[in-house]
Amino acid sequence: MRLSRYFLPLLRDTPKEAEIVSHRLMLRAGMIRQQSAGIYSWLPLGLRVLDKISRIVREEQNRSGAIEILMPTIQSADLWRESGRYDAYGKEMLRIKDRHDREMLYGPTNEEMVTDIFRSYVKSYKDLPLNLYHIQWKFRDEVRPRFGVMRGREFLMKDAYSFDIDQASARHAYNRMFTAYLRTFARLGLKAIPMRADTGPIGGDLSHEFIVLASTGESQVFCHKDYLDFETPAIDTDFDSVDGLQSVVDKWTSLYAATEEMHEAADYDAIPADKQLSARGIEVGHIFYFGTKYSEPMGATVAGPDGVPVPVHGGSYGIGPSRLVAALIEAGHDDGGIIWPDEIAPFDIAVLNLKVGDAATDGACEQLYKTLLARGYDALYDDTDTRPGGKFATADLIGVPWQIIVGPKGLTEGKVEIKRRTSGERELVSLEAALDRFKGKTA
Ligand code: ATP
Ligand code: MG
Repeated sequence: MRLSRYFLPLLRDTPKEAEIVSHRLMLRAGMIRQQSAGIYSWLPLGLRVLDKISRIVREEQNRSGAIEILMPTIQSADLWRESGRYDAYGKEMLRIKDRHDREMLYGPTNEEMVTDIFRSYVKSYKDLPLNLYHIQWKFRDEVRPRFGVMRGREFLMKDAYSFDIDQASARHAYNRMFTAYLRTFARLGLKAIPMRADTGPIGGDLSHEFIVLASTGESQVFCHKDYLDFETPAIDTDFDSVDGLQSVVDKWTSLYAATEEMHEAADYDAIPADKQLSARGIEVGHIFYFGTKYSEPMGATVAGPDGVPVPVHGGSYGIGPSRLVAALIEAGHDDGGIIWPDEIAPFDIAVLNLKVGDAATDGACEQLYKTLLARGYDALYDDTDTRPGGKFATADLIGVPWQIIVGPKGLTEGKVEIKRRTSGERELVSLEAALDRFKGKTA
């Protein structure tokens, strides 16, 4: 992308309403624009990041055996009457009427709809297990939308729904998602700790919130420090291995970790003092086993091995890609701006032309830019006539992980500079060596 032709509406001043650093930086970097309270347009830079996050979420869902579908945002109230949630949901649900006066709603979640799909087609235990997911916009009329996309009213969610013949197999479905979540957050460069969450009237221990530690998080959390060093399940994890996944989950639930609502002071105090971690956290994911809560009232049954119909056991599993954009910035920034993990960055490499119009500089930049594109990188070429200081500031602000800085002075010796965003380290190398550094994108 040539910056001169891109749409990157940077803000010089930060709007006062932005209370936390991620919101400030997303506005300054031209990633989002607020359209109404808690409702945002995603501008090109923001959309790139959102898409990259969704891609990783999708890859790990698929790896675990979940199958992607796409359900609509608008749902019929009748479906929600079947589960009894239409009246129970309250003011967070945006209720609308169509021209025929039919009651509709903008979906805050999709348990009812996916249960309807399931019951329409699946009739036998032989077709189980099944896990269907989608990545779709949700609307919840939050009382206090705030912190930008961290707590929006309209937000993107990946929600998966598992269907199993009994509780034991539903447990395995839960473990699949648990493991997929560990891998997803690790790939996003985040340390997310699964913490026990309230299961409501169903009881049991099958609900976890995945929490990223950050000083601006909305929840108070308590956990054992060793979680921060736990190993992520490997890429070749066998998601069909019941014992294998159970041992992953056992390991990741072996130490104390709870949000304020589930906090047991006595258990926490039993942790050696130097291992206690009390901090703020951001909920980036939530997984939940709910048994037959929807299948019973909605008649989602399958014939078991003996031919007798039984209601299926379900679970739902959410991740918020739009909230993750903000969470990633909370976890990665400095005074200069955003520091993205390599896999999520909107661009992999920026080529900064310090003297547009100078034949040698233009030539070297064009060569670099075109070669990088050909090698599969998302390259951003700053070919604008901004002064060098402004170019450095922009590249740092939007958080491009690598910058190749090209100016006439260096070029007289055939040299360009490579800068790493994370460390700020700069290195003077030949043009060829710079290109050798970026041989091709494998991710
Ligand atoms: P919270 O406790 O933060 O209000 P929740 O428990 O209501 O969230 P879930 O129903 O568990 O949310 O939704 C699954 C995921 O969707 C959350 O873990 C979060 O990542 C995301 N999410 C939920 N509400 C919002 C929101 N208002 N804005 C952005 N993302 C959200
Ligand atoms: Mg939740």
